[in-house]
Amino acid sequence: MADPIELVGAHGRAGRSTVAVGGTAIGPGTFTLIAGPCAVESEEQMLRAAQMAVSAGASLLRGGAFKPRTSPYSFHGLGAEGLRILSDVRAATGVPFVTEVLDTRDVDLVADHADMLQIGARNMQNFALLRAVGTTRRPVLLKRGLSATIDEWLLAAEYVAAAGNEDIVLCERGIRTFENATRNTLDISAIPVAQKMTHLPVIVDPSHSGGRRDLVLPLSRAALAVGADGLIIECHPEPEVALCDGPQALGPEDIPELAALMKDVPRLAGRALARTPVPAEAGGRACQ
Ligand code: PEP
Ligand code: MN
Repeated sequence: MADPIELVGAHGRAGRSTVAVGGTAIGPGTFTLIAGPCAVESEEQMLRAAQMAVSAGASLLRGGAFKPRTSPYSFHGLGAEGLRILSDVRAATGVPFVTEVLDTRDVDLVADHADMLQIGARNMQNFALLRAVGTTRRPVLLKRGLSATIDEWLLAAEYVAAAGNEDIVLCERGIRTFENATRNTLDISAIPVAQKMTHLPVIVDPSHSGGRRDLVLPLSRAALAVGADGLIIECHPEPEVALCDGPQALGPEDIPELAALMKDVPRLAGRALARTPVPAEAGGRACQ
C-alpha cells in the first residue's frame, strides 16, 4: 500500500488552503497570475518584463537567476547578481517575486532575497533540496516532474511539509508523452485530480507545457476553465533575443490579449484576480 499523504492530503480538511506570498495570495478565493522572463538577463530586461507582467494583471513576478539547462554549454543564469536585480525590480514596482533554487547550498541565499522559492520539474525528486526548502519560512512553488505521477508529486510536497513548511503551491507544467508537436503535454486532468487529493493550491504553467507562444493563451483558458488557482507565464520584452525559452515567451504585442483574459477572470472563474498591495515604504505601485 502506498504511504499516506498526511500533511498535504485533502482528508480531514474543511476547505482548500491559501498560501500568502509577499502581499499577494494563491488559493481558492482568487486567481493569481505570475509572469516574467524565463531567466533574468539584465536590470533593463527584468524591469521591462515586470512592466509587461503588471499590465497583464500579474501580482507576482517570475525570473530565474539559477537556471537548470539541458546542455552544460547553455546560459545558466546570473546567479547572485540575478537575485540583486530581482530585488531591485521588486523595490521599483512593489511586486514580489518567485525564483528557482537548484542547489541545497544556495537555499539560504535565495531565501534571503525571494518571496517564494521555486523547485523546478527536474528537481521534484531532489529530496535533499525538498528538505532544505522545507526548513525555510518562504512559500514553495513545486513543479511537477517531467514524468512524475500525481502521487509522486504530492509525496514530494509531503517532504517539504514534513520538514516544517506547509506553504506549498503545486504547478502542473506539462508531462513527457509520445507527442512531439508540443514541448510537453499539459495534463489538464491533473488539476482537478490533485485538487481532490490535496488541500494545496494548484496552478498551471502553459509556457513550459506547450513550449510555444501561440499555445499560451489557449492553454491558459483551459486552466481557468478547469479550476486552476493561477497561472505562471513567461514573457520577455524581446523574445527573439531571449537567452532562454524565447519561442514560448509572450512578447509586448501579446500582453493585451492576456490582460483581457485576466479582466474576464471574475466572469469565467467566479473569482477575483489577486492583487499586490502597495508596500508603503517601497513607494511601489499596485497592479492595476
Ligand atoms: C522554468 O520555470 O523556467 C523552468 C525551468 O520550468 P520547469 O522546471 O517546469 O521546466
Ligand atoms: Mn523557462
